[in-house]
Amino acid sequence: MLKKDIDLTSLVRPHIQALRPYTSARDEFAGQAEVYLDANENPYHSLTGDAFNRYPDPHQRAVKERLAQIRGVQKDHIFLGNGSDEAIDLLIRAYCEPSKDHIMLLPPTYGMYQVSADINGIKTVAIPLKDDFSLAVGDVVAGIRAGTKLIFLCSPNNPTGNAFDPDQLATIIRYAPGLVVVDEAYIDFCPSKSMLPMLSEFPNLVVLQTFSKAWGMAHLRLGMAYADPAIISVLNRIKPPYNVNGLTQSHAVAALEKFAEMEAMVEKTVQARTQLAMRLSELPQVETVFPSDANFLLVRVKDALRYYRELIDQQIIVRNRSNVALCQGCLRITIGTEAENDRLVHTLASFS
Ligand SMILES: *Cc1c(COP(=O)(O)O)cnc(C)c1O
Repeated sequence: MLKKDIDLTSLVRPHIQALRPYTSARDEFAGQAEVYLDANENPYHSLTGDAFNRYPDPHQRAVKERLAQIRGVQKDHIFLGNGSDEAIDLLIRAYCEPSKDHIMLLPPTYGMYQVSADINGIKTVAIPLKDDFSLAVGDVVAGIRAGTKLIFLCSPNNPTGNAFDPDQLATIIRYAPGLVVVDEAYIDFCPSKSMLPMLSEFPNLVVLQTFSKAWGMAHLRLGMAYADPAIISVLNRIKPPYNVNGLTQSHAVAALEKFAEMEAMVEKTVQARTQLAMRLSELPQVETVFPSDANFLLVRVKDALRYYRELIDQQIIVRNRSNVALCQGCLRITIGTEAENDRLVHTLASFS
């Protein structure tokens, strides 16, 4: 397959191309020394007794080292952010010029793309998914314009739960004049559908992943963007210097040593998902349980808003998606522990 021909530099907003980034103390001196008097840190310790008084590695080298091995990519193809939400925002800020460029979204999908676009004053063009939640590839390609700088695709998609066909995604990436961002927040639940192996073929592909879902580290806020080094270096130039804190970095390194345990948890979740889907589909309160490649189920029920409220009364919180296009009457339910799933099923079953 021929590598897609695209000039990544000219896609970057002119003032970002010209930017002279901030250089931190740890950029100017990156070696090892005995006395550090360059960063105005407290020389003693932090008040909780931990060694939090020093700034963390702004380049997160240790995390990238392990991640590169595990994902089979090179370190300079990895950006790390304060959650993948930071990468979403930085991509928009680096590549989209207000009142000139726009972003394409495929609703129903993750809400942050629209919010980040709104915050940055960037217009969005919506090309809905088909009724069965598959990609309307023809519509997407027909909707592409010269100013379509970013196309956000979420696979597996939130809130519908389905992963898209990698060949269809590839078609869109081939036609795109700008970057295509494939958000793989849930990819650990269906690793065979990842677009990561296609990075070398498509210089305009950005793959987002996160520690927040399968890795069980939502609290620590760590997201990844994988892309061509020309894109990664742009994100690194505009990020806040110490965007990933040290505690997060050390826990991520430790977690990456436990890849097999993460996979075992994923397997447990996938089995629980099958069980829960089966039990929900037998309830008279449930109309449709949509197929899922993720750690949640989209479920069409008889009376979404009432069930949503009555579940809250019973201390069970799900996500009401019934006002979202194509998701009328739907609740999005995260796969919980066996006991939590049991309680959900019994509670739903008790509703009139
Ligand atoms: C949960 C989720 C994220 C959040 O990622 P963070 O790394 O926690 O910021 C990103 N994209 C999608 C589609 C999600 O569902």
